Amino acid sequence: MQLPDGIDQILSSQEEIKATIQRLAAQISADYEGQEVLLVGVLKGAFIFLADLSRQLTIPHVVDFLSVSSYGATATTSGEVRIIMDLRTFIRDKHVIIVEDIVDTGYTLSYLQQLLGARKPASLRACVLLSKPDRRRVDTPIDYLGFEIPDHWVVGYGLDYSDMYRTLPYIAVLKPEVYLESQ
Ligand code: 5GP
Repeated sequence: MQLPDGIDQILSSQEEIKATIQRLAAQISADYEGQEVLLVGVLKGAFIFLADLSRQLTIPHVVDFLSVSSYGATATTSGEVRIIMDLRTFIRDKHVIIVEDIVDTGYTLSYLQQLLGARKPASLRACVLLSKPDRRRVDTPIDYLGFEIPDHWVVGYGLDYSDMYRTLPYIAVLKPEVYLESQ
C-alpha cells in the first residue's frame, strides 16, 4: 500500500481498531449493565474513537466533551496541563468514563482524574485507545485500554500532528524528520 508522505509504517489497521473497539465496548457494556454512563471525550484527538465506541455500547449513555491544552505543534510535553473548554454537564453522582486517545507521560489523564474526581461522580474510570508505557512519568490508572505501543509519535484515527493526518483510517507512525524539522 502506498503510504502518505511523512508516514513511516502502519501500527494498527482499520480491522484491528474495529475489533479492539468491539472488545472495549463489550467490556464496558457488561461492567455498567443497568446503569447510565456519561462518556467524556477529550478533544480533539478522541472524537473519532468516542464516536465509534459510543455506537458499539449497548448500555444507555450520553456524551460530553472537554478540551485541554495540547503540546501545540511540537511533539514534546511540558508537563503543564490546562483546561481550555470545560464540560456542560454536572457530573455529581454520575458514572463517568473519560475517553482519551493516547496516554503518553500520563500528565493529562492524571490531571483529568483529579479535576473530575473532585466533582464527586458516582464513579470515574478511563478508557484509552493507546498507551506508551515507556514514556510514563506519572502513574495513572487506565481501566479500559486498546493497545500498548512503543515510543513513537503516532497519527491517524483522530490523532494528529499539527492538525494533519487526523482522518487516516488507521494508526500510523510519523517519520521523526517531520516533527524534528519544525523544532
Ligand atoms: P500525556 O499528558 O499523557 O503526556 O499526553 C497526552 C496527550 O498528548 C494526548 O491526549 C495527545 O494529545 C498527545 N500525544 C501524546 N503522544 C502522542 C502521539 O504519539 N501522537 C499524537 N497525535 N498525540 C500524542
